[in-house]
Amino acid sequence: MKLLVVEDEIKLAEYLRKGLTEEGFVVDVAHSGIDGLHLAMEFDYELIVLDGMLPGIDGLSLLAALRQAKQTPVLMLTARVRIEDRVRGLQGGADDYLVKPFAFSELLARIQVLLRRAQPVRETGNATLVLGLADLEIDLMRRRAVRAGRRLELTAQEFSLLALFLRRQGEVLSRTEIAEQVWDMNFDSATNVIDVAVRRLRNKIDGPFERTLLHTVRGMGYVLELREE
Ligand code: CA
Repeated sequence: MKLLVVEDEIKLAEYLRKGLTEEGFVVDVAHSGIDGLHLAMEFDYELIVLDGMLPGIDGLSLLAALRQAKQTPVLMLTARVRIEDRVRGLQGGADDYLVKPFAFSELLARIQVLLRRAQPVRETGNATLVLGLADLEIDLMRRRAVRAGRRLELTAQEFSLLALFLRRQGEVLSRTEIAEQVWDMNFDSATNVIDVAVRRLRNKIDGPFERTLLHTVRGMGYVLELREE
C-alpha cells in the first residue's frame, strides 16, 4: 500500500517514513509543496499525509490543485488550531485533520480509518481491517491470511502483494503497477521478480485449493477474481 508524505521538516518526514514503512506501507516523501504535487499527480497513492505549511505552495493550495484531478484521501497535518483553518481545509477537500504535535499511534489510526473508508472491506469488530474474496481473507492489522479456514504462511512481501490484489480485485494489474505498488521500483529494474513472486504467492493461496483465484491475463498482467467454472 503506497502512501505519500509531504512534509518539509526533514526530521518529522523521516520519522513518518520510517514508522509507516515499519507498518508495511511503501512511502514516498516530498519536502516541498511543488514536489508533493508533482508526485501526487504523477502516481496513484492510497493516501497522502499533507503538511499545511510548506515552502513553495502550501498544503491548501496543493490540495486544491490535486482535487481538480484526483480524489486520493488526504490527511492534513497542521500546527494551527484555529477552527476556521480546519474548516477551510475540510472544505478544500481534506478528509481528516491532525494537529501537531501528534502521537504516531493516532496518525496510524486515522490513516487506517481513511483507508477503510476508501476501500471495499469487510469489517469484523474493533480495529480490524479485513479484505476478502470467496473463502480467502486477510486481516491487515494482524497481518494474517486465511483460506478456507486454513492459515497461510506468507512473507511480508507476499502479504503486501496479496493485499494489493484483494483491494483491487477484479482489476487486471500490470507488472509495472505491481512493481510500483509493492516493490517501490520500476518494472525495468524488476525484470522477472514480479512473475516469480506472483507464482510463489499463487502456489500458497491457490495451490492446495480447488478453485483458482489468481489468474494470469496474457500480455497484460494478473487479476484476482472468482470466475465461473
Ligand atoms: Ca511545515
